[in-house]
Amino acid sequence: MDLGIKGKRAVICASSKGLGFGCAQALAAAGCDLVMNARGQEALEAAAEKIRSEHGVSVEAVAADITTDSGRADVLSVVGSADILVNNAGGPPPGMWHDWDRDDFIAALDANMLSPIAMIKALVPGMMERGWGRVVNITSQSVKAPIPQLGLSNAARTGLTGYVAGTSRQVAGSGVTINNLLPGIHATDRAQALDGPVAEREGITLEEARARRSATIPVGRYGTLEEFGSVCAFLCSQHAGFMVGQNILLDGGATNATI
Ligand code: NAP
Repeated sequence: MDLGIKGKRAVICASSKGLGFGCAQALAAAGCDLVMNARGQEALEAAAEKIRSEHGVSVEAVAADITTDSGRADVLSVVGSADILVNNAGGPPPGMWHDWDRDDFIAALDANMLSPIAMIKALVPGMMERGWGRVVNITSQSVKAPIPQLGLSNAARTGLTGYVAGTSRQVAGSGVTINNLLPGIHATDRAQALDGPVAEREGITLEEARARRSATIPVGRYGTLEEFGSVCAFLCSQHAGFMVGQNILLDGGATNATI
C-alpha cells in the first residue's frame, strides 16, 4: 500500500533502538525524511546510517535527552518544522506504590507526559498552518490495563492520554491527527530489562522468563519492531486522516477486553 507520505518530514524521538527505531524504519520505507533522536550518540549515528543506506532518505540525528528542556530545544532547532511527530522516551522503573516519592512522580511525568506535550505544542501549530500533520505517541498497554509494578508509568501515560483525548479534537479540523499507540510486550531492550528481575526473583533463566511471559500472550510470542513500526507508519499515512484521539493496542491479544 502506498502510504502517501513520501517526502514528508518526520521527527521520531528516542529512536536509536526499540520501538522508536521500528517507527523510524517504517517511516523511512514510506519515503519520509527523518530527524532521529536518542541520548547515546554512537548508537544513534549507527541507527541513522543504517536507515540512510537501506532507504536512501535524508536522516538527521540529534543526540539529546528528550525529557529535558535543553534536549528538546536541541532537537527542535534541527527540526525547524515537521509533518509527522512520533513521541517516545524511556519508561519509568518498576517498583512498589509505597516507595515512590514526589521526585519519582515528577521525573515520570516529565518523561512520559510533559515531554510529549511540549513537543506537540512546539510542532503542531506549524502542522495546522500547513493544513496537514500526524502525531503518534508511544504509550503502553498499561493505559488500558494497568500493570501494578509500573505505577509511575500508569500514572504518567494516563495523564498524556487524557490530554490527547481533548487536544486531538481541538486540532483535527486543521488536518492534524493525534493518536496513541499502546505497545504490549515487544522484543526490545526494555522488555529484557523487565524480564531480568523476574528471572532473578524466580530463580529461572532469562529464556524461561521470556517463555513464561510469551505463554500469557494469545499469539504466543513478543511483538516485533517491524509490526509496531508498520502500524505507526499507517497512523501517519494519508489513509488515517479520519482516525482521531484513538488508543491503538498492539499486544498480541494480551489485554482481555472488548474495548
Ligand atoms: P528501548 O528498547 O530501551 O529503546 C529506548 C530508546 O529510546 C533508545 O533508543 C534510547 O536511547 C532512547 N531513549 C531513552 N530515553 C531517552 C531520552 N530520555 N531521550 C532520548 N532518547 C531516549 O525501549 P522500547 O522497548 O523501545 O520502549 C519504548 C517505550 O515504549 C518506553 O517508554 C517503554 O516503557 C514503552 N513500552 C515498551 C514495551 C515493550 O515491550 N518494549 C511495552 C510497553 C511500553 P538512549 O538510551 O541512547 O537514549
